[in-house]
Amino acid sequence: MNSIADNIKNVSQRIQKATKFASRDKKSVQLLAVSKTRSVDELKSCIQSGLTHFGENYLQEALVKIEALTEQPLTWHFIGPIQSNKTRAIAEHFSWVHSVDRLKIAQRLNEQRPKNLGPLNICIQVNINDEESKSGIPLNELDALCKTISTLSNIKLRGLMTIPASSQDDEALRASFRSMNTAFKELQLQYPSIDTLSMGMSGDIEAAIEEGSTMVRVGTALFGARKKK
Ligand SMILES: *Cc1c(COP(=O)(O)O)cnc(C)c1O
Repeated sequence: MNSIADNIKNVSQRIQKATKFASRDKKSVQLLAVSKTRSVDELKSCIQSGLTHFGENYLQEALVKIEALTEQPLTWHFIGPIQSNKTRAIAEHFSWVHSVDRLKIAQRLNEQRPKNLGPLNICIQVNINDEESKSGIPLNELDALCKTISTLSNIKLRGLMTIPASSQDDEALRASFRSMNTAFKELQLQYPSIDTLSMGMSGDIEAAIEEGSTMVRVGTALFGARKKK
């Protein structure tokens, strides 16, 4: 089995190659290490190799790691489904939330964000393939939600996130990513704070970057296969 350091090198090379192929600056894509189910020691290995952005899906598990790693200058991203009774802790302990998909959650995060921490960075999750099992809003509800969210002063609208259907072939997957990029660019014209298109995971880093992703969320390719939760 490869070490985490080797895996990080490998993923960084994949990102570099894909940006080069797409004639993009390699710095235009941020690597977010998705650390759900991973131990504090595994995160420390990532930190030693220079990673500072971590994505977590489960609040209780995340809080333990955030607490254990407070000495490190890390940026924590919440990327899992959000129940409204979890918003306070998320607003207090994270810098980013990628999985906002309804106004009520955005309003609660806005009210509960401690002022001294500055605005919480928000991405709206889009259910690009209209899957019943997935969180996120359809593209046609995006304008209305963005309009309201952009008036909330303790959260900052940074962009969009999606998890496309895993069953698609490569061309359909790219079409999904492309629709996201079109919506992202249209929103950017209206909201200057928007700069983040969060898409691409271990299996589709290249396709996502070629279609415009600015942040890839990678778990398995960094840490190995996850045990089922
Ligand atoms: C788990 C997860 C990932 C990482 O998936 P891998 O295939 O392990 O890279 C990315 N995004 C979200 C929202 C996830 O829940």
